[in-house]
Amino acid sequence: MTEEAGGSTRRAPVFFCPYCGDEELTPYEETPGAWHCAACLRAFTVRLIATGVNE
Ligand SMILES: [Zn+2]
Repeated sequence: MTEEAGGSTRRAPVFFCPYCGDEELTPYEETPGAWHCAACLRAFTVRLIATGVNE
């Protein structure tokens, strides 16, 4: 896997916190692509590893 360094960071659309299910997510500035949950105060990243993959 290669991390995108610099430039425009592709942020996976996250609508719910995977830990508490809250919707109050804001970009986590210290880590590109990360999100911060205002409800449980967790910061996390979501990585898309595949799309449209046939078995
Ligand atoms: Zn949360």
